[in-house]
Amino acid sequence: MSETNSITNRIEYDAAPGSGCASKASIEHQSHSAKPPPSICFETGRILNAMTVDVEDYFQVSAFEPYIPRSSWGGFEYRVEANVDRILELFDKYSVKGTFFTLGWVAENFPAMTKRIAEQGHEIASHGSEHVMVTKQTRDQFLIDVTTSRDVLEQVVGQRVYGFRAPSYSINKSNLWAHDVLREAGYTYSSSIAPIKHDLYGMPDAPRFAHQRSEGKLLEVPITTVRIGQRNVPCGGGGWFRLYPYSVSRWAINKVNVVDGEAGVFYFHPWEIDPDQPRQKQVNRKTQFRHYVNLDSTYGKVEKLLRDFAWDRMDNIFNPEIPQS
Ligand SMILES: [Zn+2]
Repeated sequence: MSETNSITNRIEYDAAPGSGCASKASIEHQSHSAKPPPSICFETGRILNAMTVDVEDYFQVSAFEPYIPRSSWGGFEYRVEANVDRILELFDKYSVKGTFFTLGWVAENFPAMTKRIAEQGHEIASHGSEHVMVTKQTRDQFLIDVTTSRDVLEQVVGQRVYGFRAPSYSINKSNLWAHDVLREAGYTYSSSIAPIKHDLYGMPDAPRFAHQRSEGKLLEVPITTVRIGQRNVPCGGGGWFRLYPYSVSRWAINKVNVVDGEAGVFYFHPWEIDPDQPRQKQVNRKTQFRHYVNLDSTYGKVEKLLRDFAWDRMDNIFNPEIPQS
């Protein structure tokens, strides 16, 4: 991009109340294109990244589905509430607000915890009703899934819900109709695509950053990747974050902010900070490795992320359309 394309904009930046950043500031922004500039933390001048939590318990993950039928969920020791409370405490320590993509099942079984998340200033969004991947649903089934989960969440917290994250990033080129269904169900944004090659999910040729879907009526914000050579490499959380040293994550997210000039989206699960969760020995070794690797160091790594980068809720950063009612 040449210097002649560089333009200077005076922009009003909004940051969330209590996010640790100034609530509003007008600053000079150097932009090299017509795309909207990222949200900035006024106090530090750093790009705000989205901190997100997928609220499900350890026995509800997609990789355990072949071993743990949904009908048996009631027989497990529940650990989600204690783990969410540790996360709320940690976020509060760093004055970070985030988005909690919560299962309808979790909201129904832990309404007080779900309300607590919202009361502490975090965004509640949907992670579906019972963690069924979109790739395993018909269009009609998916409409019921996302409508039901949104209704449950809205009843529990008493606030509108606008965001959705597909279980296991299961929106890809085979089911892009899902964005139309989300819009039909009242959502205005989705964070459901992983623009990577993976054996279980992914849409490697999808745009890496926020873009419009459903004829401009729904914003899709993919999970963050870092471009290395010709490949998109995941750097937005999950097993990758637990496996590699923290310095790799710090380098990758910093590259997204500084080189791409974009906000990153990071995610983790309450069970990823819980090394004492009951082990599922019936699960195959590859899945066990992916689920259990470095659970004991994840809490500390998340704390470093909170300290080293500026964070906020998805809705504050990406400004999805909020319908007038
Ligand atoms: Zn999930």
